[in-house]
Amino acid sequence: MKTIIADMTHGIDEGMMKKAGQILLDGGLVAFPTETVYGLGGNALDAEASRKIYAAKGRPSDNPLIVHIADFDALRDIVKEVPQAAKDLADAFWPGPMTMILNKNDRVPMSTTGGLSTVAVRFPDNEIADAMILAGGGYIAAPSANTSGRPSPTTAKHVQDDLDGRIDMIIDGGPVGIGVESTIVDLTEDIPMVLRPGYINMDMLRGVLGEVRMDPGLHSADPNFHPKAPGMKYRHYAPKAPLTIVEGPADKVVAKIEELAAEKEAAGEKVGIIATDESAALYRHGTVKSIGSRAEEITISMHLYGILRDFDDRKVSVIYSEAFDTPKLGQAIMNRLIKAAGHQVIKV
Ligand code: AMP
Ligand code: MG
Repeated sequence: MKTIIADMTHGIDEGMMKKAGQILLDGGLVAFPTETVYGLGGNALDAEASRKIYAAKGRPSDNPLIVHIADFDALRDIVKEVPQAAKDLADAFWPGPMTMILNKNDRVPMSTTGGLSTVAVRFPDNEIADAMILAGGGYIAAPSANTSGRPSPTTAKHVQDDLDGRIDMIIDGGPVGIGVESTIVDLTEDIPMVLRPGYINMDMLRGVLGEVRMDPGLHSADPNFHPKAPGMKYRHYAPKAPLTIVEGPADKVVAKIEELAAEKEAAGEKVGIIATDESAALYRHGTVKSIGSRAEEITISMHLYGILRDFDDRKVSVIYSEAFDTPKLGQAIMNRLIKAAGHQVIKV
């Protein structure tokens, strides 16, 4: 299959957008930008289109897809009921990087929800995404547009690296703004529960909902204690080289990573180091990349997946990363990084 690349970095190309809509209505797949990461879209109400998404990504079929809408009223037609909490969350955070889980109705096929009776729904804050969702029928199932297990794509080039020739079209809307996936809030629990941390943090959610819990299965290193979101149990976001996080006071972290990097280089290994603007110049060993500035935490989330991919391309054999205790986005970033590291964390 020849994948069409539609350049919309300077605005929506109406002709190409119409084509994208037709591909989706015909059951095909289109990758598109959102404010979080690039998504791989297919018609959410078409069981066959959902199966194609799983096949293109090599995604396990028990890992449900998020349904993207571009109009709040569309929600009513795919769920059993819209509780007050859902209306309040939508008022506060839609369009935006927040996904809610509700009980689905029969219009949503089981292949879209991985066999679950609940459905995850989001209204993205990106004009290309919203135009495409409407052109494609209003309900677009879209996981991140990467091969399963690789870091999520934050540019159209990342999507092309993974899926060229496997999908019908890639819409290039330039680099994304947030860089980590949406916050997932489960409203089918007695107390709303966060199944995946993201840009919309616990304090923001509590401001709207009152009591909110974090899924206790999320931060467990015990393989028998599963998180509720099926996708969070997989070792996602993994770079090819083993990654270790070093956590502690800034000066001790740099000293420890230097020591480890020197040892590994002496043993003939190629070392990659994930540092920040504040610390990058302090390292003497390894290939050092700054992820962004601790003073501006969104720069860290924006660059996280790109750096992991870059180290894959450079074929480093081992990676060390500083920990990022960013107050607002900290849980979202560290959740992804700890998973990428397979829970290998050294405390100094
Ligand atoms: P992705 O689209 O690749 O960012 O992944 C979507 C995430 O949402 C995965 O972790 C899924 O397991 C989770 N998810 C989607 N639908 C549901 C659902 N109905 N219940 C629980 N988790 C869900
Ligand atoms: Mg994903």
